[in-house]
Order: sequence, then structure tokens, then C-alpha cells
Amino acid sequence: MPQRLQSLWPARLALAALLLSLCLASLLLWQQLVIGQQQRVAERVSYQARSLARQLESSLNDQVDGLRRIAQLWNHRGRIPKDEWRLDSQLSLNHFKGYQAIQWLGADLRMRWIEPLSGNEAAQNFRLTPTHPNFNLAMQAKTLGEPRFSNSFALVQGGHGFVLYTPLYIRDEQAERVFDGFMQGVFRVEQLMDELLTHLDSSDFSAYLLENGQPIYSRERTDALDGLQQEVPLHLLNNQSFALQLKPSQQLVGQLTTPLPEIVLGASLIISLLLVAALALALENARRASALQLSNRRLNQEVGQREQVEQVLRDSRERLQLVLDLTDSSRDGLFIIDPHSRDILHMNQATYRSLGYSAEAFSQLLKQDPEQLLPGFNSWLDGVRQAHQDNLSMMFQRQMRRRDGSNQAAEISAQLVLLNGHEYLIGVSRDNSERLQLEAQLQRLSQQDGLTGLYNRRFFDNQLASEWRRLRRQGAPLTLLMLDIDFFKAYNDQLGHLAGDDALRRVAQVLQDALQREGDTACRYGGEEFAIILANTGLDGGNHVAEQVHQRLAELHISHPASPLGRLSLSIGLACVDLSEEILPDTLIAQSDQALYQAKREGRNRTCVWRPDNPR
Ligand code: GH3
Ligand code: MG
Ligand code: MG
Repeated sequence: MPQRLQSLWPARLALAALLLSLCLASLLLWQQLVIGQQQRVAERVSYQARSLARQLESSLNDQVDGLRRIAQLWNHRGRIPKDEWRLDSQLSLNHFKGYQAIQWLGADLRMRWIEPLSGNEAAQNFRLTPTHPNFNLAMQAKTLGEPRFSNSFALVQGGHGFVLYTPLYIRDEQAERVFDGFMQGVFRVEQLMDELLTHLDSSDFSAYLLENGQPIYSRERTDALDGLQQEVPLHLLNNQSFALQLKPSQQLVGQLTTPLPEIVLGASLIISLLLVAALALALENARRASALQLSNRRLNQEVGQREQVEQVLRDSRERLQLVLDLTDSSRDGLFIIDPHSRDILHMNQATYRSLGYSAEAFSQLLKQDPEQLLPGFNSWLDGVRQAHQDNLSMMFQRQMRRRDGSNQAAEISAQLVLLNGHEYLIGVSRDNSERLQLEAQLQRLSQQDGLTGLYNRRFFDNQLASEWRRLRRQGAPLTLLMLDIDFFKAYNDQLGHLAGDDALRRVAQVLQDALQREGDTACRYGGEEFAIILANTGLDGGNHVAEQVHQRLAELHISHPASPLGRLSLSIGLACVDLSEEILPDTLIAQSDQALYQAKREGRNRTCVWRPDNPR
């Protein structure tokens, strides 16, 4: 997820940059359109200002034409009569309302004539002195012989105004041109401008007359717009100190401009936003589609994996079932238990059936009283753990107890397994009583003499050695009897070998019968020789057993034609040893053998006891 978010950032930044650039482009376009419109307004205002300026200039020129005519008349004809002058002046005054007055200033620069006098009385005694602001201009006009239009100044009549100085000349007697003062056109600023601007469509502009950059007259509209004003030079007659400034009214600007820039700006901003939004939407859709695709792919993978897992599970379940069937078909008990809680994780049928339990009863008993099932269960468990630790064999021969109380030999193979921190005991128990019996039988057979059923010579050797060790520890006595049938060769010779075998069996039975105590052992030592080991038995006991043998054999009265007794008899050599002494088993055998030899020598059918002083 964070990776996908990371990968979205460049696209998002690109979209933001696109939006920004589109907005900037829209603003630029808007600005261009606005500038274009402003230029159009400026051009219109400028054009209007220029044409108005020309109009004003030409209008003023036209209006003061009458004055010029009077001056020309004056110059050609000489000083004209006052009445004629007044008529001409009144004509000009009537024709152009911009005049304040028309005056003649004499050559001495004193005021002579004023038309109309009314309203201009204050100028009656006027004299143009060098201190007057127009003095120099007037002198210039006089010198050049050309009219001069003054800057605005304070009129003696009050208020501000202009004066047009037109120099006058007359001829003297010598026909020389002589300065005869000035024909003056006096104009009030407001009056002149109002008159000149009557033609201007006053609703469209605010108009300003500037003199050396300073406004001296204004005709304003309240909705005039600053910043769009245009200024053009205004040549009032030959005075170039003036400028005309026009400010367009809001209404005019409204007529000249259109809301196109704003519409274009709004539209392009909306289009930009829509475009970016559409792109963002497309991006989001693409992201969602790819996320969906990804999650679909994952889902498919998961489904595939789940199917695989389910297949594996099915397979392993089937295999497990097969294994369970297999374990149930086994005659060995197979079980897995928790050795601590004695809970059974698994057991096959053989585990409990062979002992006569149901599965539930077996489980319950194992949990509650395991000793009932396996006497010494806890010590066995300790033994298992010890063997596991010591890496010893984990085969145990135990006795299981059946439900009916009887025992069943069990060979248990155990294994301790640690799985996820849990200890489990895996066990295989086998009822091996048959094998044990067989082994015991084999063992017996390997120790037995085939003809007589007595123990054989090998057993005799082992038994003597082990009894020897045991009795030595106890310091107890041991008696050995060596027995040999008398004249047995002759018996065989006369009665046949089979009869000899039979006789050997009967003698063996006599020996068995003569032994009273458990632990007394009769063996066939070889041929017609026998040996009896009497543990914990001294001389008296030995003699008693020997006597018993003689007696019982005599009672059987086995006919022996070649014996002087007419019956089968045997001779016994007896040796007794106190095992506190240092002596070897072979020595005891040799001693009893010597005693037997002595019994033979002394006439047979008797017992001789070995004594150290016996003749050899
Ligand atoms: P003595 O009284 O001195 O012991 O004389 P004896 O004839 O018994 O002694 P000897 O050693 O000369 O003979 C032993 C005989 O025992 C020889 C043999 O034929 C017989 N014999 C040994 N083993 C068997 C056997 O397994 N079956 C039979 N039938 N005879 C055996
Ligand atoms: Mg013999
Ligand atoms: Mg013999």
C-alpha cells in the first residue's frame, strides 16, 4: 500500500503542476485580453483627446478671427473710430461667448477702450507695467508683430483668465509704422473652456486643462476612471504651455470593453479544473483498476494456493486415514500420549482392545490411575526419560494389566518427542508373551539334556559359577555330588543301548525326585555321569540327598544282570566347600570326582565324601 501511494505522488504532482500552469496560462490570457481592451480604451481616449484638442485649437482660432480682423483693419486704415470698433467688438462678443472682454490697450500700455464695460469696470484704469506677468509676452508680441496668447493669470476683474495680445500699428506722417498698443481679447478660464467644450459629449469623459502640468480647469464626471486618462498637448493659439487631459467615464469604458476577458478567464479556469479533475479521475480510476487487478491476481493466487492446500490437506487426510487404518490393522498397540497430563493424542485399537478395554475406559483409566494399566507406570516414565537422556535403548519389557486383572507381557518401545515446546511420548507396545515363552523354552532347551530332561553340562558350569559367586558373598556352604552309574557299559552290552537310554532317564527322574529344595540342581554331567549342586548345604544335607538317591534307585529295582547286586546302582562322590575359603570351582569338581573314584574303588553303590587326607 505505501508503495502504491508513493508511486501516485509523481502523477499527483504532475497534475498539480498542470493545474498551476493552466491557471497561469488562463491568467496570462486574461491579462493579454485586459491589456488589449485597455489599449483599445486608451486609443479611443487618446484619439478623442487629440481630436478634441485640434477642435479646441481650431475653434479658438476661428473665434478670435474677428479680433484679428479688427487688428488688420486698424493696421491698414489706421486707428478706427471708437464706435466702429465697438460695433465690430460687439459682433465678435456676440459670436463667441468665451470672451470676457475686448479691449484696446494704448501704446503707453494704459487701458483705453473696454467692450463691454459692464462687468469689466475694474480694468478701466489698468496699465500694463513690467511687473505684470504678461508684460514680457506683450513686449514679445509688439516686437514680432504677432499675436501672443498668455498663460492664465489673475484678472483685475477677479478670477483667472487669459489675454490674447494682438499688436496694433498705425502710419505716421512719414508713413512709418508706429506701435499703437494692443487689441486684447480677455477670456475667463472657465468661461472659455465651457464654451469650447460645449461640443464634447460630456457624459463620456472628465476633461482637464493643464497649464505647465498643473490643472487650471476641470469638468469632471463622478465615475471617471483614474489610470486610463490620456494627455495631449494643446496649442492655444501660439501658446504651447497647455495640455488637455481626458479621463474616460466608467460608462464609456463599459461600452468599449466586454466581459470577454473575465468570461475567458472563468471559462479557462473551469476548463482547466475540469481537465485536471478528469485527469485525476482517470488517474484514480487507473489506480483503482490496477489495485483491483492486483487484488484480483492476489485473490486468484490465494484461491490457487488454497486449492493446493486443500488438495494437500485432502491427500494428507486420506493418507492419515490410511495410516490410521494401518495402525488399527496393526496387532501392536500404537499410541501417542502427553506424559504430563496423560492425555491420549492417538491410539489404535490394539492398544486398548488386547487389554479388554473400550477406548474411553482406557483413556479414562490412563488419566486417573495409570498404575492400573501399567504397574509401575511412573517409575517406567522416569526410566524412559533417563534412557532418553542417556541415549540408551528405549525398549522396555513390562507387564500390562488386563481388565480382568490378569497380566500381559508387553514389549514397549518408547520415544520422547519435543514438538513446539510440548513433550510427547510415542509408544509401540507388543504382546510378546508367546515370544517370551518361546525364548524361555529355547533357553531351557539350550540348558537341557535331550535324553534325560535334566540340565546339561553347560548349564552345570554356569550354575556352579553363579552359585559360587552368590554363596561366596553370603559365606554360605555348597555341596557338590558327582554320581556315576555302576557297570553301565555292561548294562548296555547286555540289554541294549535303548534300554540303557531308558535306564538313564529313570535314574534322572530319581535324582529329580531326591531334590527337595528349590535351587538344588541336578545335571547330566556326561554319559552316565550326573552332578547335583546343593546350595547353602553342608555335609549332612549332602549325605542326606545322596542317601535319598541310593534309596529311591534301590526302590526302583532296575534289573541289571551284569551287576553283582542284580539291579542298577550308582556311586556318589561328595565334596563340600565352605565358600569363605579361597578355592576354585574346578577344585571342588576335582574333589568330588576323587570321592566318586573312591566310592567306585570301595565297591560301588555307595557315597564317599572327599576329605583332605583321603588317598588319591
Ligand atoms: P563303572 O562301574 O566303573 O562305572 O563301569 P562302567 O561300565 O559303568 O564304566 P565305563 O566308563 O567303562 O562305561 C560307561 C558306559 O556308559 C559306556 C557307554 O556305553 C555307556 N553310555 C554312556 N553314555 C550312554 C548313553 O547315552 N546311552 C547308553 N545306552 N549308554 C551310554
Ligand atoms: Mg562313568
Ligand atoms: Mg559307570
